[in-house]
Amino acid sequence: MATITLDDLRHAYGPNPERPEDYALQQLDITFEDGGAYALLGPSGCGKTTLLNIISGLLTPSHGRVLFDGKDVTGLSPDERQIAQVFQFPVVYDTMSVYDNLAFPLRNRGVPESEVDKKVREIAAMTDLEDTLMNRASGLTADGKQKISLGRGLVRSDVNVIMFDEPLTVIDPHLKWQLRSKLKELHQRVKRTMIYVTHDQTEALTFADKVVVMNVGQVVQIGTPVELFETPGHEFVGHFIGSPGMNILDCEVKGGQAFLQGQPIETSNAGAVKDRAEGSLRLGIRPEFISLAEDGIAAEVVKVSDSGRYQIVETRVGDAPVKLLVNEGIEIPTGRTALSFQADRTRVYRDGWLVAGGADI
Ligand code: ATP
Repeated sequence: MATITLDDLRHAYGPNPERPEDYALQQLDITFEDGGAYALLGPSGCGKTTLLNIISGLLTPSHGRVLFDGKDVTGLSPDERQIAQVFQFPVVYDTMSVYDNLAFPLRNRGVPESEVDKKVREIAAMTDLEDTLMNRASGLTADGKQKISLGRGLVRSDVNVIMFDEPLTVIDPHLKWQLRSKLKELHQRVKRTMIYVTHDQTEALTFADKVVVMNVGQVVQIGTPVELFETPGHEFVGHFIGSPGMNILDCEVKGGQAFLQGQPIETSNAGAVKDRAEGSLRLGIRPEFISLAEDGIAAEVVKVSDSGRYQIVETRVGDAPVKLLVNEGIEIPTGRTALSFQADRTRVYRDGWLVAGGADI
């Protein structure tokens, strides 16, 4: 078990990087606390695998250090770092029994058989593999095999961190949620440091206590699922997380007051923007925090679709598209209507980043 610190880390695959776009990973400093459940979340190509490989020791960063409990491990191999990894495709020895697969890492380290047996049975119980222990691994389904990969990580007591690289990719859709909740439950029981890489927001938000959101080689926010939902630190987090994502609308700010298409809007942080501040200003509000109102921001209903749980109402405020969620059973007016934006959930962004209340600019 270890606290993992990434210190002034950067990585470029090519020689002589100069511009930010030359880096697959731009400068980052992160601490993964001992025993925490983390997710690295972002779209394809944002640098998740690069970061994972740097932490595991498969890749040496072109700049900066990796520390485990304060000790510099940047030059050490995955084996020397004592890492367990669960990949997209389960890595199991098909000709061996489930029991022998789980026992393998312990026997490899010369652990006495009595201890091996105790550990294997304990982990098999945790991962629901008890009934198949003596079966050949080749006969198991993909989720069973993935449980073996996971079990092999859990069986060792010397593992500093368990890393998951898109571990549910080959799992049947209807079994995904089962394995996902199993992982969460196991983390709560064993409290090992776990880092889970995915491009799927549901997987990240249900597994992790803290999510590291990445975009084009940059960490844009590290936060709890609630923080990412309620206070996106960057426009990217707003529209990448949530379904539908946050509305992002051009706005103007004058005298600490925000205006959307000429209409005044109360926000939680427009007061922090100095008048004529440089850069593009935008308003961010999630569809969950907008409602239909008797009197409010003038809008036009364009389309209504039904998600089964609520209605997604697409409107226009001037020429800006604005989506809101309305409970089932509530009648949606056609044509002209008015909207109410929840002020404490309406935020101003400048050049993509949340304008911090008071302290910014
Ligand atoms: P995915 O989900 O598709 O695996 P990712 O978020 O894991 O994507 P990375 O694989 O880390 O992203 O890639 C980050 C950037 O680095 C991409 O622009 C990619 O093209 C580039 N890259 C990755 N591996 C190499 C390599 N071996 N040599 C050169 N460039 C690479």
